[in-house]
Amino acid sequence: MTASQAILRGLAPDGGLYVPTIFPTVSSRQISQMTDMSYEQRAAVILERYLEDYSMKEITGAVQAAYSRERFDDPAVAPVRKLDASTWVMELFHGPTLAFKDMALQLLPHLTRLAAEKNGETKEVSILVATSGDTGKAALEGFRDVAGTSCTVFYPLEGVSDIQKLQMMTTGGNNTHVIAVRGNFDDAQTGVKELFASEAFVRAMAEKGKVLSSANSINFGRLAPQIVYYFSAYADLISQGAIRPGEAVNFCVPTGNFGNILAGFYARNMGLPVNRLICASNRNKVLTDFFHDGRYSVLRTFFKTISPSMDILVSSNLERLIYEAADRDGELVRTWMRQLKECGSYSVGEQRRDWIDSVFWGECADDVETLREIGLRFQQDHYLMDPHTAVAGHVLRQYRRRTNDTTPCVIVSTASPYKFAADVLRGVKGEREVASQDAFAASEELEKLTGVPMPAQVRELRNLPVRHTAVCDRDGMGQAVLEAF
Ligand SMILES: *Cc1c(COP(=O)(O)O)cnc(C)c1O
Repeated sequence: MTASQAILRGLAPDGGLYVPTIFPTVSSRQISQMTDMSYEQRAAVILERYLEDYSMKEITGAVQAAYSRERFDDPAVAPVRKLDASTWVMELFHGPTLAFKDMALQLLPHLTRLAAEKNGETKEVSILVATSGDTGKAALEGFRDVAGTSCTVFYPLEGVSDIQKLQMMTTGGNNTHVIAVRGNFDDAQTGVKELFASEAFVRAMAEKGKVLSSANSINFGRLAPQIVYYFSAYADLISQGAIRPGEAVNFCVPTGNFGNILAGFYARNMGLPVNRLICASNRNKVLTDFFHDGRYSVLRTFFKTISPSMDILVSSNLERLIYEAADRDGELVRTWMRQLKECGSYSVGEQRRDWIDSVFWGECADDVETLREIGLRFQQDHYLMDPHTAVAGHVLRQYRRRTNDTTPCVIVSTASPYKFAADVLRGVKGEREVASQDAFAASEELEKLTGVPMPAQVRELRNLPVRHTAVCDRDGMGQAVLEAF
């Protein structure tokens, strides 16, 4: 199996996830050399080690297209800013859709297009995505007008925010489709899974010259680009004089599907001096409980929170961590995954839990703690955090209080505060009640109050023409796709 095949297929035929056979290493000297490199150059150094059937020229071309100044509004792409004496924040929200999904989904389309070429695929690669919000828009922006591909996104009619809906409905490009499904996110997601499994649908698409592919966060092509920014942040800390080369750092990551933090784990396995990976959850604290007792259980209530991109009970990418914890025993992982599917839980046992515990630390924050953290950070550090990032900020305080660990820590910031302006505004003003304020009005008030500039994408959204208005039933999704093409 080559890297390009793994990227084209997404999921292995038996339902498992693709993992690298070995973790390529990066030496301390090579990390220090990154201090003089642009983000694009750093990305090429890391990606070249995984994408063994891509040429350096192809990788360089892809990263330059993905992380250009037209797409990212900060020349550092993933800038690292100092919050206090031992805390930094890495901002992953400078891409076109203002959330960290852009870091991978701006690059994935180029890797997909090249993968199709390499494997003699002459059909158009048609991406189908079900989204609960951020992923859909990021996929649309990434694949928009990339030759040889198209992107169709299904979102639940009830269940995404007004801004998110508007972001998707106004998408440009001549290969993008957005369809609302009457139902919730599960309906949309199950519907997409059924389309992938439907022979009749796959055949009908093939007759139109299209082959299906996915852009899920379990695709290795989404994981690999995320490894880059952990190295990049470390190089930036050296440049800023915050650490000496080789000195350990911690990362604190707001987590949902476990994709972002897993990339940090992969970076650590490659030789990046990471001490602890702090896994921050919201009230859906299935991962917190897993790190405490080694038992993963989805038999619990699902909560809607103000950090919706972390409202997840099944963190798919955790499978890649427990594979390492099981010493790469695929059969054992298969058993656990079967138990999860059939009984709703599995347990990795005490020994493996202890091994995981030496690298990870998990805690959670509820909505009240999240709002308080937004307010605190703004007062103390004059830094405006979005609710997802604030979950991590709160959890880091707990980590330090309980462990007395003084290792420098980078909080990974996953969204612009303006993507969740109404809640951020509540946090800054110290309000606790749910406000149903119009998102645009909240953005303007937030800008006035804090002086933090509103991103152009939010300002412009109001005036963009709505281009996608299709709506279908849960049973009509396949028909809707075929009609769209
Ligand atoms: C997707 C997302 C997350 C969760 O990332 P995972 O890789 O799923 O753990 C956190 N914050 C924001 C804003 C996101 O969009």
